Formats: sequence, structure tokens, C-alpha cells
Amino acid sequence: QRAEEAAQRALPARTRDGHTVAIGANVNRPDQVPLALAQGAEGVGLMRTEFLFLERGDTPTEEEQFETYRGMLRALEGRPLIVRALDIGGDKQVAHLALPHEENPFLGVRGARLLLRRPDLLEPQLRALYRAAKEAPNHEALQIMFPMITSVPEVTRLRAACERVRAELDAPAVPLGIMVEVPAAAAMADILAEHVDFFSIGTNDLTQYTLAIDRQNPDLAAEAEGLHPAVLRLIRATVEGARRRERWVGVCGGLAGEPLGAALLTGLGVNELSMTPRDIPAVKARLRGSDAAALRDLADRALAAGTAAEVRALEGTAREGTP
Ligand code: PEP
Ligand code: MG
Repeated sequence: QRAEEAAQRALPARTRDGHTVAIGANVNRPDQVPLALAQGAEGVGLMRTEFLFLERGDTPTEEEQFETYRGMLRALEGRPLIVRALDIGGDKQVAHLALPHEENPFLGVRGARLLLRRPDLLEPQLRALYRAAKEAPNHEALQIMFPMITSVPEVTRLRAACERVRAELDAPAVPLGIMVEVPAAAAMADILAEHVDFFSIGTNDLTQYTLAIDRQNPDLAAEAEGLHPAVLRLIRATVEGARRRERWVGVCGGLAGEPLGAALLTGLGVNELSMTPRDIPAVKARLRGSDAAALRDLADRALAAGTAAEVRALEGTAREGTP
């Protein structure tokens, strides 16, 4: 029984009609990698580097960060690792960085905006990452992405910083991507795609910013629905923009780890789903029991729905493949 479950978890997320979606885990520490692999992860789709800053009383040095990124690459044994540059601000506050008080931190100096204002944070992180890339047995494994992007100039400035560090270290080039988690980025996806190697959609923030619902407000938690058709339409726009430039699109927000969400995202055409390791087996089972053609039809019906509740109700009606 156990052995059979483990064998099931190791199978790819391939639909009955042969469409495969890559499955990543959202994991922050090297010691969490073996568990993620045991659950069926094929790589790490989101490493939140805030944890390096949040779990301690001071700022980690370049050397400490390097050790951690190298540890992740080693634990993954050549599998892909997408590291997200520091995403501080909003709900992620770090006392020892002494950032100024803001009335609306979710709309303030967060993510890429902070990185561009604080080379003392950006540079050591990039140096640590490129040093790890240089040492990695598989030079293709590491990818870097930037959070909270809203405009092309942010991307070009961050890419320039990466290139400067890469050249200084004589390190290999690594794919550079952005989080699509603000409606502006989704709306501009076709243009942004010219400037990046990949997108990763953050449905937690994309939902918050699209619906104007604070992701931490318990009174509104029930309405903060990633399945809201407005969010799904922005995901569609992101996928279409990426396709025009033949760019790869992943999803690393919570929607990717819900079976219905994973089914819809696959139908919308995303290439990868990255989630909490414990969510992987159910998502794989769902996709393996579906036909991609039926998932595309499901996605079309969700895009035409009026409410998240209507999208949820499609669950019962959808026949994604006859058992
Ligand atoms: C997201 O916003 O969906 C995301 C994956 O990033 P975080 O939850 O860390 O903000
Ligand atoms: Mg986010």
C-alpha cells in the first residue's frame, strides 16, 4: 500500500490525453527538500528568501545566503530551483531592517520597490545567488525572480543589476523572471514578456490587489477568492502575453495547490504549478484523472462566470474525463 502510494506520487502530472504540467514545491530551506521530493515535487518553484531575514534578529550576510542557496541546489541534485529575491513589506515586516513606517504597507515600498532602493540588500543577495550558480553541478538549475513588479523600468533596472554582478563574478547567466502578482503586471504581460525569461503568477497577492481585499483581514477572508473570474481573467491575460513571446508561466500562489484551481490553471495554459508539498499528491491525482481538452473547456466556462461561487459550482458539472 505504502509503496503504491509512493509510486503514485512519483508519477508526472500528465493528463489522460498526454498534456504534462510541471510540479514544483514552495520550500524555503534545504532540509525541507527531501520531504517535498517524497511528496512528488519535481523541483522548487518558489523559495521565499524572506525566511532568511524573518527568522532571526539580524541581516544574513552574503556568505550565509550563499551557503543556503548552495545547500538548496545540492539537495535538489540538479532539479530546478526558482529563488525569489527578497520580498519584504506588506505583511512581511522585518524589525532589524528598520524600514520607515507606512500608512499602507501593502501599497508601499515592498518587494522590487524596496530592492531598487536598497542596494545594500539587493547586491549581497545577487552575489550569493550567482556564486551558488557558478558552483552548481547543473548550471541550468537556478532561476531568479523578482516580486511585486509593476513596470518595465523596474525589470530593466533589476536585470542590469544582475548582469553587473554576474559579470563581476564571471558566473553563468541564469534565467530571470518576475512574479505577476499585481494587476498592472498581468495587464502588461505581453510587453513585460519581452524583458523576462519567465513569469510566476502569485495568486495570493494578485487576488488581494485585484479585489482590493487585504489578504490578512479575517472579515473578508471568505471573499478573497482566487477563483473570482476577475482574477482568472488576469491569469488568462498573463498566459496570452507570455505565449506571444513563447515564455514559460508558472503559478506559485495558493490557487495552484487546490485541485479545482490546479485544474483551471492547467486549462488556462500554465506550464508549472508550485505549491506546499502536502498539496502535491491531490493535485497530481486530479490532473492525471482529467483530459486537457476538458480542462480548457472548464477554464472557458470559468472565464464566462459571473462570480467565484459560479466557478466553484462548475466542479460538480465538469466531466474532465470518464473514469
Ligand atoms: C503570492 O503572492 O501568491 C505569492 C506566492 O507570494 P507570497 O504569498 O509570498 O506573497
Ligand atoms: Mg506575493
